[in-house]
Amino acid sequence: MKATGSALRAALAALVLLGAVPALMFLLLIMAGDLHLHAGLIGIAISAAAALLLAVLLSRDVAALTALMRAQRSDQGDPIEPIALFTPGLRRLGHEVVRLMRTERRRRAQLERIAAADRSLLDRLPDPLFLLDSSRFVVWCNPSAEAAFGSETASLLRHPLLRAALAEAESSALPVRASLSLASPLARDLDAVVVKVGAPDDPVRLFLWLADRSRERGLERMRADFVANASHELRTPLASLIGFIDTLRGPAADDPEAQHRFLGIMAEQAARMQAVIGDLLSLSRIEMTEHQPPETILFLPPVLERVAAAMEPMLTGNQSRLLTRIAEDLPRVTADAEQLAQLFSNLLDNAIKYGGKGGTIQLDARLVTDDSRFESPGIMVSVADDGPGIARQHLPRLTERFYRVDKGRSRAVGGTGLGLAIVKHVVARHRGRLLIDSIEGEGTTFSVWLPLARGQSIKPIVQSNETMLPQSQMKVARKG
Ligand code: ADP
Repeated sequence: MKATGSALRAALAALVLLGAVPALMFLLLIMAGDLHLHAGLIGIAISAAAALLLAVLLSRDVAALTALMRAQRSDQGDPIEPIALFTPGLRRLGHEVVRLMRTERRRRAQLERIAAADRSLLDRLPDPLFLLDSSRFVVWCNPSAEAAFGSETASLLRHPLLRAALAEAESSALPVRASLSLASPLARDLDAVVVKVGAPDDPVRLFLWLADRSRERGLERMRADFVANASHELRTPLASLIGFIDTLRGPAADDPEAQHRFLGIMAEQAARMQAVIGDLLSLSRIEMTEHQPPETILFLPPVLERVAAAMEPMLTGNQSRLLTRIAEDLPRVTADAEQLAQLFSNLLDNAIKYGGKGGTIQLDARLVTDDSRFESPGIMVSVADDGPGIARQHLPRLTERFYRVDKGRSRAVGGTGLGLAIVKHVVARHRGRLLIDSIEGEGTTFSVWLPLARGQSIKPIVQSNETMLPQSQMKVARKG
């Protein structure tokens, strides 16, 4: 209705503008007597009719152009069709307007695509990212930020170091960096970078990018602890050796009995240093190859039997006995025989050392096909003792270098504190799993799961502890 009214007004205005001048001229000619009244009236009528036709065409074309532009403003994505205009000058204008609109729509679509790509990049960024305004209100954050901080965001933004960095970034054109340590909800070390975005006159917008450095810092701490521990492990026996050398040179120079005793202790301390250095070298060799899985296809039973046989003197010394239950036709694994021998030797050595005098140790090897803890069939080798067991709180830390439940006992039995660290790294290199179960007062079981070599057929011989092989198919050895 409104559109019709304004079109009518435009048509009337065009009619007046186009028709008024010729009509006035005809009138003046009639009044001056230069034109006959009838001829003048006919002229006025013809020019009025022509003006009316032109006004109608003009107002229709203008209305069509206006409608086209209005449709473009509310852009519903409809195709921009060329419009038919009748007024000669406007036809060209209409043509140009349609081209301009199509170009503008293409550009806008392109900008939207770029913006969507930018947004999806920020959304997929693994590091948390926040966009903040001048009052530190989170205008936007990516899913990583939501996942990492969620409801903790407010307390994160209150961290004094972060607040200082945000304040500094507000008045700086350069990125501002800060390193923070969060204590809760979980201990984290973060690197923060704050960048002010937008033109200087725009409202303040700050991008806050956070990178979790907990792992790197943890590794740095571990490395520093390791160096400190390793030097401590060597320094103690070395100090004792130096002390005895001084005693042998001085007060005990003429005391053969004391000399004999001291040399015995010195030999023990030297052996201890040798054991620590040997384990440190093994550990570093294993770590160097850890990213490179072994390639040899190995039949495990002979390796286990060799390791078990080598334990005999130690078993005898400790009056312990070893029972082995190794399924005979186990499928092969891809393994490094020497490293696996060291692994099982460390586990058996611990079981004898910590299992107590006269204990029984059970070495089992079986095929595991249907255990949901493992992604594929594999071989499970377990070493179980009936010793005093290990308190629950120690279990997660047992494989740390130099971690011992009872330092004195470990040293007394010749432990270096590196045996289980070696076990962990060998298992990792073999893409296996290490499981530790212990019940205080009942004993400890270390189980190593190793994936089968590719292409090994699975003949489920022994599937679980409950469904053991019939005795005839099993090799039962009793030692010690
Ligand atoms: P160590 O050289 O001291 O034996 P390991 O890394 O082999 O070092 O073992 C770490 C600690 O785990 C040992 O000091 C001991 O306290 C504990 N441990 C290992 N195996 C057993 C076991 N079978 N029974 C009880 N404690 C064990």
